[in-house]
Amino acid sequence: MRMPTTITATKDARPLAERVAHVADIAARYAGEVDAAARFPAEAVDAMRTTGLLGASLPTALGGEGLTLAQLGSIAAKLGAACSSTGMVFAMHHSQVLSLSRHLGGSASLAILAGRIASEQLLLASATTELGIGGDVRSSSCFVDLEGDKVRLIKNAPVISYGSEADLVLVTARRNADSAPSDQVLVVCDAANLTLEATGGWDTLGLRGTASMGYKLNALVAADRVIPEAYEAISAETMLPVCHVLWASVWLGMSRALVETSRQYVRSAARRSIGSVPPGATKLVGLIAELERFEALVEGLTARTESLFDDRDAMGGIGYQVSINNLKVTASELVAQVATAALAITGISGYRNDGQYSVARIFRDAQGAALMVHNDRIIANTARLILVQKG
Ligand SMILES: Cc1cc2nc3c(=O)[nH]c(=O)nc-3n(C[C@H](O)[C@H](O)[C@H](O)COP(=O)(O)OP(=O)(O)OC[C@H]3O[C@@H](n4cnc5c(N)ncnc54)[C@H](O)[C@@H]3O)c2cc1C
Repeated sequence: MRMPTTITATKDARPLAERVAHVADIAARYAGEVDAAARFPAEAVDAMRTTGLLGASLPTALGGEGLTLAQLGSIAAKLGAACSSTGMVFAMHHSQVLSLSRHLGGSASLAILAGRIASEQLLLASATTELGIGGDVRSSSCFVDLEGDKVRLIKNAPVISYGSEADLVLVTARRNADSAPSDQVLVVCDAANLTLEATGGWDTLGLRGTASMGYKLNALVAADRVIPEAYEAISAETMLPVCHVLWASVWLGMSRALVETSRQYVRSAARRSIGSVPPGATKLVGLIAELERFEALVEGLTARTESLFDDRDAMGGIGYQVSINNLKVTASELVAQVATAALAITGISGYRNDGQYSVARIFRDAQGAALMVHNDRIIANTARLILVQKG
């Protein structure tokens, strides 16, 4: 478990683009090592801290930079292109920051806590998945148990990305022991007030740097750490849309990196056979067209989410929910398709784990996209929504 953050971050006065480029450079430098050792991208996340990026999505009133979803998506894509796991940590962290900051429900203590994310550059993780429940994020078995002025929460979580590195973990649970599985709340647990007993490792095909270990989580926190708004609203209006937009942005960034490697490979082949068009060039045309479709999809849904973000009814409406679910499913399929096409273009050079044309790491990372909340589950939920949609 990471020790609670004690240093107050100093302000990095450089423009946002420079700070992001700095973090992306570091992420790229360590991406291979992070993947090989399946370890948390500590250097890149430290760089996010020193450049103030961990608090950037908070409104300025809470000490943040008030970045828009489009700005956050652009950063997620740049970091994802450099190191998929780093991009995913950034995306997951900010989905949790916004899930807290947009749903304070008038709670002064939660507002102070949200402000600390910026002033102390706290890292936030999420524990929604539960043993026996799987990826059904709108259902919990564990529950909040009142103990005096505190609440106890015990959750068997098969996957918490970078759980042992996080300063705060946002945990879903039933409101109390008698509540229905879907009557959930979101509880903000500090690292200092929880224990994480490891129940499983993270030796996976890809996204190895997310260090998404299994834990038995046991937290005893002040009762006012339970976010007053129902998780149903937090999920529909913030967590799910932000996750889908920022995850899709990371996958877009990974796809851009794959296309760039493919382009360099084809150019190098062309230099070796002057006067003829290398066979990969025609495939590259199709790949670039696919990337353009991917970009339009992510930009479109990001802009639509941005335009509706403060309209609670529209965000919770079926029309938007169907679209934002489809974004996740389509984007996760696209990144895997781009990876397959990049491998076909780069051939054995791409298949290798080493060398400048290797696409192996991102290819493996891309396979996780369909599984982080399984596409089958999302499609089944969307089908249910369509059945009740009017008009
Ligand atoms: C890189 C990565 C990072 C992650 N980080 C986190 C994290 O930080 N916090 C967290 O809480 N979780 C995290 N997860 C977990 C993730 O969000 C999913 O909950 C988890 O991957 C689902 O696990 P599962 O496929 O075993 O379970 P399930 O979702 O239960 O799926 C198991 C199988 O059942 C099928 N299935 C189940 N229900 C349905 C249904 N209703 N309709 C159709 N098919 C169904 C699916 O097709 C699938 O084959 C992460 C996952 C990944 C890959």
